[in-house]
Amino acid sequence: MSATIIDGKAIAAAIRSELKTKIDQLTGRPPALSVVLVGDDPSSHAYVRMKRRACQEVGIRSEVLLFPSSIEESTLLSEIDRLNQSPEVDAILVQLPLPKHLSTSKVLFHVASEKDVDGFHPVNAGLLLIGDAQAKIPCTPLGVQELLMRSSFDPAGKHVVIVGRSNIVGKPLAALLMQKREGSNATVTVVHSQSEHLRSYTQQADILIAAMGQPHFITPSHVREGAVVIDVGISYQGKKMVGDVMFQEVKQKAAAITPVPGGVGPMTVAMLLKNTLQCYLENG
Ligand code: NDP
Repeated sequence: MSATIIDGKAIAAAIRSELKTKIDQLTGRPPALSVVLVGDDPSSHAYVRMKRRACQEVGIRSEVLLFPSSIEESTLLSEIDRLNQSPEVDAILVQLPLPKHLSTSKVLFHVASEKDVDGFHPVNAGLLLIGDAQAKIPCTPLGVQELLMRSSFDPAGKHVVIVGRSNIVGKPLAALLMQKREGSNATVTVVHSQSEHLRSYTQQADILIAAMGQPHFITPSHVREGAVVIDVGISYQGKKMVGDVMFQEVKQKAAAITPVPGGVGPMTVAMLLKNTLQCYLENG
């Protein structure tokens, strides 16, 4: 048996098209996203270019505020203040990583929670945890949920095992999938680098989500026959992008699997667009 390949690229394209239709129907100015980019890290610049292209495609106005890596923290915080106060800006994204001399948490927590399109502000993390609909939910967890729902793998009642507990992916994904609402209602187990007998948990998963950043860590022996496997991981072997899952081997055992690239990645960008529209509609 070979698994169904979950085509994140196609699903993300469908979502962009739905968002474009919604945005085309808006009256008044279009939704606006400001991206704060510090320094000249080539991958960060490439990510920002990709995000802006996606904005353009659906009719979101985006601007990039580019600052030198030597910028003082206080100057950056004042710039964020200005964006927080601007009625022309609906959503703010701080591209990570920031240079070492800047406190990432201080900068992220400075973004007004209602414009926090990445959902990294503690107010949004708290709102997510208590299941408040106003929460801005981090894009990758939201993308994983959409991917499951749109591929007819509703997590409700299923045992979801997440490998990874970061604040960006693992933790908010666990909080999201255990909510008492449509698209969630899962039984969630989270494992990490300190978990003993990791395999004994992953083998119990109806839906296994790998978000570790360890290339090809997940082998067929981690996977239950017929499980759905979602690979969030992105690593590079030379120029080749690879995930956390041994794709070719695991696909023989799983019922469905996401590829890397073309799985979760495009969904993350689509959810950035969705969150920008949410910020616009709620704050406008
Ligand atoms: P982090 O490095 O912040 O977290 C990785 C998590 O994996 C940690 O909780 C860590 O455990 C756990 N982990 C690492 N090694 C092992 C191991 N050997 N066994 C068990 N658990 C392990 O990464 P992120 O959460 O930010 O990202 C995870 C991956 O997802 C990365 O490859 C990243 O590039 C990718 N990513 C992809 C996105 C997309 O759009 N597709 C978006 C965001 C991230 P511990 O906490 O104990 O250290």
